[in-house]
Amino acid sequence: MSAYDRLDAKLRHIHALESISGLLEWDEQTLLPADSADQRQNQSAALAQVIHQAQADPEIGTLLDELETQNPEPETQNSADSIGPIIRDARKTYDRATRLPSSFVERHARLCSEAYHAWAKAREEDDFPSYAPYLQQHLDLAKERAEHLGWGDRPYDLQIELHDPGIDTETVDRLFTQLKTDLAPLAQEILSIPSKTAPDLFTGFPIDRQESFLKEVTTSLGFNYKRGRIDTSLHPFCAGNGADTRMTTRFDEDNPLDSLFSSIHETGHGLYEQGLPLDSLHNALGTAAGMGVHESQSRIWENQVCRSRTFWNHYEPKFRVAFPQRLASVSSEDLYQAINAVSRNPIRVDSDEVTYNLHIIIRFETERKLFSGELAIADLPAYWNAQYEELLDIHPTSNAQGVLQDVHWSGGAFGYFPSYTLGNMLAAQLWYAAQAQLPSLDADIGNGNFAPLLDWLRKKIHRHGARYHLLELTEKATGQTLSPTHLLRYLRERYLA
Ligand code: ZN
Repeated sequence: MSAYDRLDAKLRHIHALESISGLLEWDEQTLLPADSADQRQNQSAALAQVIHQAQADPEIGTLLDELETQNPEPETQNSADSIGPIIRDARKTYDRATRLPSSFVERHARLCSEAYHAWAKAREEDDFPSYAPYLQQHLDLAKERAEHLGWGDRPYDLQIELHDPGIDTETVDRLFTQLKTDLAPLAQEILSIPSKTAPDLFTGFPIDRQESFLKEVTTSLGFNYKRGRIDTSLHPFCAGNGADTRMTTRFDEDNPLDSLFSSIHETGHGLYEQGLPLDSLHNALGTAAGMGVHESQSRIWENQVCRSRTFWNHYEPKFRVAFPQRLASVSSEDLYQAINAVSRNPIRVDSDEVTYNLHIIIRFETERKLFSGELAIADLPAYWNAQYEELLDIHPTSNAQGVLQDVHWSGGAFGYFPSYTLGNMLAAQLWYAAQAQLPSLDADIGNGNFAPLLDWLRKKIHRHGARYHLLELTEKATGQTLSPTHLLRYLRERYLA
């Protein structure tokens, strides 16, 4: 067996273990009985250690040394069958695994579990001080990780890089400053338009019919239910990989649009996973290019495609067939306005696509100040609320509605939030590039034919796996550097036209 074949076998083994871990996590959030969580924590912790051992296997180091001598400059090899990106990615994973002591991996896993439960309780009881020590420990551990990995002087850069390879704090700061300058006044302008959505328009939508309608929509978008499924969970997510894609949604009889758009969002993530090369899921060529690119794939379907009038010209009659009585008193314009309603909502996940990115900018600036030491954990609630008042004119009435609302920090996932807005920028940029390159795009969407757009995304984004990072992929797909101007143009066209 060649050195590459031996490395390939090792990577396949690691991927098999990681996919089992993913299945356990999916099960924990969908099916696991409430009182069975303790055993699951032990199972997950045991598996995390096995995966860490497999990643740090010294034989991988020897094989990489050998392969790097044969391929001295892997980053310059960009042909489709090049193993350069595979070696580069395997080297990064191996180096990180060997530099992190297993005692660190264990402490981190334990803290994630403890902090998650502390966060859930603190949010329920609106008790920030009880959660603050866990946040401090996570911040300390993130800085310790940076020391281990050689990023000691740039711990927040590392946090961003863990979610979006190729991106650093300075890049995010530059893009977000440009975006914020125009988005803050644009959001105020859109928010000042009187709402045309009547409250309580949507009540009593039977869940079984919601489910069959969203399956019809997501199937037509291209999701392959023979290699994936959709279940319910508290918060929608998409797990698994292209061989077995697990999406979730949630149902509310009085909010059918929430389950529908959550499903469409997760379908975008699922289409990306299912579009990655199936024979390379264990290496960089079949791996997503980062969370920002992933989010661009969910957002383009959720927002640019499925919130458009063109999409609803096709789907409104079908929606009415599914719910004839419920929609009898809802006009076409009511429906469209409800789908695109904009409001001052203190909760990020319930906010609209106009204000959403301001929620993210607040989180980025907060995290940066926590890592630089400008902001102490104890001062987080006051700082958070002041930012919301200044940027969104929102006055959170509790910490549960403020700094305690998101789960991310309880898992130590600092640096994750910027991915959402980077993804929104890329989604709008891809949308205009697709329109320019696919002259019949609008007509196709109006006919319920989504294959041309999906094929375009497969060609421009999916088939490359993690060969290129977010900024490189943006330039290759759109011919331009990543910029917030496309997102701003899209929001103006959709909400001010
Ligand atoms: Zn998403």
